[in-house]
Amino acid sequence: MSRHALALLTWMIIVNIVATDSRPLAQTSPAEDTLIKKARAIHEKVINLDTHIDFAPADLTGERNYTQRLETQFNLPNMIDGGLDALFFSIYVGQTREAQNPDAFTSAGYERAYKLALEKFDAVQRFTREIAPDKIELALTAADVRRIHAKGKKVVLMGVENGYPLGEDLSRVKEFYDRGARYLSLTHNGHNQLADSHTGERDGWKWNGLSPLGKQVITELNRLGIMIDVAHASKGSMMQIAALSKAPIIASHSAARALCDVSRNMDDEQLLALKKTGGVIQVVAYSSFVKTTKPDTAERSAALATARKEFNLPSPTGPGQRARFQAALKALPAERLAQFEKKLTGIDKEYPGDPAVTLKDFVDHIDYAVNLIGIDHVGISSDFDGGGGVVGWNDASETFNVTLELVRRGYTEEQIEKLWGVNLLRVMDEVQRVAKDLQK
Ligand SMILES: [Zn+2]
Repeated sequence: MSRHALALLTWMIIVNIVATDSRPLAQTSPAEDTLIKKARAIHEKVINLDTHIDFAPADLTGERNYTQRLETQFNLPNMIDGGLDALFFSIYVGQTREAQNPDAFTSAGYERAYKLALEKFDAVQRFTREIAPDKIELALTAADVRRIHAKGKKVVLMGVENGYPLGEDLSRVKEFYDRGARYLSLTHNGHNQLADSHTGERDGWKWNGLSPLGKQVITELNRLGIMIDVAHASKGSMMQIAALSKAPIIASHSAARALCDVSRNMDDEQLLALKKTGGVIQVVAYSSFVKTTKPDTAERSAALATARKEFNLPSPTGPGQRARFQAALKALPAERLAQFEKKLTGIDKEYPGDPAVTLKDFVDHIDYAVNLIGIDHVGISSDFDGGGGVVGWNDASETFNVTLELVRRGYTEEQIEKLWGVNLLRVMDEVQRVAKDLQK
């Protein structure tokens, strides 16, 4: 999520983006050509499913929407260019804290959150029913995903990020299911009425895991056939969910804590517990969770701010700013862009920053998870328009690069197919099969 406190885009990334965009393609060797051809064939054959992309209802209106090449990381033109076939849109509602809003956990607070969730459900329905019904279709089952893909259309699914808008009303779980939700995470950043969030490592705990209501919600999710998502949960919550759930669980956008020690990521014990449920971790390409980088020095920050001012560019950090920055950058005349690039190169020399987080760093997390819990329990997610920042896979148009890197590392077509969606679809099937049994 862009709303993640840690979401800071480094200038090194920008430098790389500028450099990659403006340089002619490097000459490739015959061996490299063969590799690219092989990867291209695999990429086109398998279903590429990204389990976490954010969106704003304002980007799904009649005038402005994802059929256009917006300055967003995700949109249909980018999706087509990158050969991405399917995505889960995040029905995300931020966690209101009691400290700022005393009514956060009263019916008034829940009602505000619920309305925001409904706006997002409605926006996705608008997308598939009114804006682009010929291009994209809503899937509710794994079979739907395969059927829609076979027709040559793009596939969208819905996952709820944060159970806060459920309030204390268990019947809303069914309502969300009926609206199309096929995964749900109990928490976002900050504890709520259902469970502790990973942020408790900094703030202290509220429930030491799940609340009594949270446990009831788990039972209800199992009964209805909604995948339980443990992204953003505390370790305590996550381990309790793993023990309690009668169906496999997922982490819709998380990475390996052994490689990047932040509370949002999963340690080895968690990954093994997730595997035991039959579940899958959808490794996230969000730079802050892929690699911890040192913040810029005061000198570097000041030099960058001055350069930005000189070229009349907005700050690239903060919610929505990345897109604004990139749009402003793209609008620069070629000559000015070259001057700006030169300036940045000078700043990098004088006040070096930490190296950018790259696709290789991201795929290291996939390797790590595969080695620890096996190829059947790992998948892929981007967190676009809420994160990103990984050079090489920083918007949906660059999706092929992921497959290329996997091929480069020796993954077979069958393995890549599992990573890109077969595993997640297996879990979705299993969760819905368990639900049928429970409903008997
Ligand atoms: Zn998130």
